[in-house]
Amino acid sequence: MTAQDKIYDLIGVGVGPFNLSLAALLDEMDEVDSLFFEKKKHFEWHPGMLIEGTKLQVPFLADLVTMADPTNIHSFLNYISKNDRMYQFYFLQRLDIPRREYNDYCQWASRRIESCQFAQRVSSIRHVKEQTDYFEVVVEDLSSEELNTYKAKHIVMGTGSVPTMPKSFKELPKKDVFHTADYIPNQERCRSAESVTVVGSGQSAAETFRELLKEQRECGFRLDWITRSPGFESMEESKLSLEHFSPDYVKYFYQLPQKDKDEIFATQGLYYKGISNHTIDDIYNLLYEYSIGEEKIDTGLQVLSEVNGIHPKEEGDGYVLDCYHWQKKEWFKHESDVVITATGYKPYVPGFIHHLSDFLEWDEEGRYKVEADYRLKKTEHVENEIYVHTGISHTHGVGSTNLGLAVHRNKVIINHLLGREVYKLPEKSIFQSFDIE
Ligand SMILES: Cc1cc2nc3c(=O)[nH]c(=O)nc-3n(C[C@H](O)[C@H](O)[C@H](O)COP(=O)(O)OP(=O)(O)OC[C@H]3O[C@@H](n4cnc5c(N)ncnc54)[C@H](O)[C@@H]3O)c2cc1C
Repeated sequence: MTAQDKIYDLIGVGVGPFNLSLAALLDEMDEVDSLFFEKKKHFEWHPGMLIEGTKLQVPFLADLVTMADPTNIHSFLNYISKNDRMYQFYFLQRLDIPRREYNDYCQWASRRIESCQFAQRVSSIRHVKEQTDYFEVVVEDLSSEELNTYKAKHIVMGTGSVPTMPKSFKELPKKDVFHTADYIPNQERCRSAESVTVVGSGQSAAETFRELLKEQRECGFRLDWITRSPGFESMEESKLSLEHFSPDYVKYFYQLPQKDKDEIFATQGLYYKGISNHTIDDIYNLLYEYSIGEEKIDTGLQVLSEVNGIHPKEEGDGYVLDCYHWQKKEWFKHESDVVITATGYKPYVPGFIHHLSDFLEWDEEGRYKVEADYRLKKTEHVENEIYVHTGISHTHGVGSTNLGLAVHRNKVIINHLLGREVYKLPEKSIFQSFDIE
């Protein structure tokens, strides 16, 4: 029987950290015959933001497997051990590993897990009713350009997020105006610019600004940072606040009415959108260093100001940003050669999910409905499930995109997939109570 004839237990769409974790956990289980398709040539985790010196924002224990099974061969510590770096890591004494190392670790794991297949883009999925119902998955092999069709009992969608950028910015030359997601390939362009402006004030904006600040003295460009926020606000990182990224909070949040969930989620920006304290410290320390002595640096940090438009300068190179100080209600203009937008990401929900629109349940906002155990809700009773990692903040809350909850989610998915308790789920895993006890 060819790979295309047989019915796999599970086909995964996308190999980012969330599905890679599931593939890693399933790798040791003979009971599940699975394939995971990724359109990139090899595993890559936000490559445009792998800036030297940036750190993973969760402890390395949130690797692909440890929170489910610390003895699993795909653990971060096994990666360190297999690469003969145990003593260096031991003397490093850090939980917050470099982001480049997390990427290297995931690449190492992805090469060892046979079910992960790269340069394979899933282009459509449909549900087929025959003697045995299944999903038909059409996959484009990006090396050979061939289309192959696979069959699966269940699907798991881990397609991640894509950078968002205002339309007027998208229409300008990409070498001058780009998203932070494309920062690394455009570093040389920044170095040769007369002026560079970063727009936005989340973690990516801060990491990009910090890196540019380090390079500014040597390269000599003017550097600006503009945000509409009232300040360069720090992320809420106290230990008790971090308990929002726990299975307990997911469980509490899930059972709230959807209207309440939307209202609560809208107030929780600083749990995930602000800037890490250590990044703010680094930036402040650099600004302070540079303020010593006669030689002043050419840098501006502008808050309370919305960038509402952009157009090329009438004469010469560069762009004019139309800015609005929303407290003073005054417009002003700002000029820059290079503009980097840190305007966030949105879930990438592939078009083929909409082809399954009659098969799935949708809420009034046009978002899919999700069961507590991460299955999309269906309009009819069939044995086939679509599990989902992507676009579930509206149902499962603020921790949905956090690496620290990925393994927990995969434990829930595996328990459902195998119809038994493969992994024991914690009754209570944190100190505080969100629900009435
Ligand atoms: C710059 C940045 C830094 C971050 N840092 C942290 C952090 O330190 N800690 C933390 O907890 N969270 C962090 N996050 C949050 C983020 O949710 C996770 O980092 C993580 O990438 C999510 O994993 P994922 O598997 O859902 O998605 P992704 O990593 O986005 O992977 C999804 C994959 O699906 C593939 N794909 C999409 N469509 C198809 C298709 N049709 N066919 C085949 N493949 C497809 C894509 O090519 C992609 O490789 C960060 C996010 C960003 C943007």
